[in-house]
Amino acid sequence: MAFPITRLRRLRRNERLRSLVRETRLTPEAFVYPLFVCPGEGIRKEVRSMPGVFNLSVDEAVKEARETHSLGVPAIILFGLPAKKDEVATGAWSEDGIVQQAVRAIKREVPNLILIGDVCLCEYMSHGHCGIVRVTPQSLGAAVAAPPATVSYEIVNDATLELLARTSVSLARAGIDIIAPSDMMDGRVAAIRNGLDEAGLSDTPILSYAAKFASAFYGPFRDAADSAPQFGDRRSYQMDGANLREAMREIAADVEEGADMIMVKPAMPYLDVIAAARERFDLPLAAYQVSGEYAMIQAAAANDWIDRERVMMESLISIRRAGASLILTYFAKDAARLLN
Ligand SMILES: [Zn+2]
Repeated sequence: MAFPITRLRRLRRNERLRSLVRETRLTPEAFVYPLFVCPGEGIRKEVRSMPGVFNLSVDEAVKEARETHSLGVPAIILFGLPAKKDEVATGAWSEDGIVQQAVRAIKREVPNLILIGDVCLCEYMSHGHCGIVRVTPQSLGAAVAAPPATVSYEIVNDATLELLARTSVSLARAGIDIIAPSDMMDGRVAAIRNGLDEAGLSDTPILSYAAKFASAFYGPFRDAADSAPQFGDRRSYQMDGANLREAMREIAADVEEGADMIMVKPAMPYLDVIAAARERFDLPLAAYQVSGEYAMIQAAAANDWIDRERVMMESLISIRRAGASLILTYFAKDAARLLN
């Protein structure tokens, strides 16, 4: 039936009709709110490039967790800013690590909030890379002549796995409900699964950052987590933004290794990857609306160039429509307030 029998505008005439036929809905139950925990007490320091996002000491993180939960947001994901960094990421896996402290405090005060632990080493490494770094002086006979001071470095995959597993066990013992590895080393889901199982933590699920792209949209996060690499970049382990098929291989590998949930990161520049993953895999699918996506909206809204609330909701609905069941977003609390 064509026009004039068919008139698509009939169902758009008012909000009641539009709501009746709406295909995609947002609810606070779909949100995960990221928190950045730092040492100290009474600290609530706004991240320069992420207005509305704070570095929080443990006591403040507890307050934030309580508020998040009261808004109907079921989960938070925790990132840590350790007092000290070193070459083996001690702060990531030590029993009194900053996230471990926060987890124990939040579990005590807000027991029904789901706590997701981001597992990566970059925030705890003095060099800011996500794995162990091996530095080798350029050999004299190198085919390409290098400047004398140049050294080459490598992010060592297999040696990193042990630290990731150790970190995961430590977090789960502290009370983390879901382990979320974000480092993009090969084989880390299997290593973490083994580590958890051997520690008697076989009920702890893994949410794998399965397709994580080397994205410039992470810029503001590195302010928030103080995790910018001191040299080089992350392109030898995070994915090339041009590759959709490779993303499917990454996800398939993590599913094979025992991931319980999968994630695509970032979200809005990779909606096609989310849609393809939804089509192909039957695991719960998360998407991370990253710091740069948030910062762009906040900055444009601060200039009165866009309607903040509408753009925020439209960005979230686009991620949901693409197929994500969970959205990790800095807008979780604000969007939940609008939806409640
Ligand atoms: Zn990392």
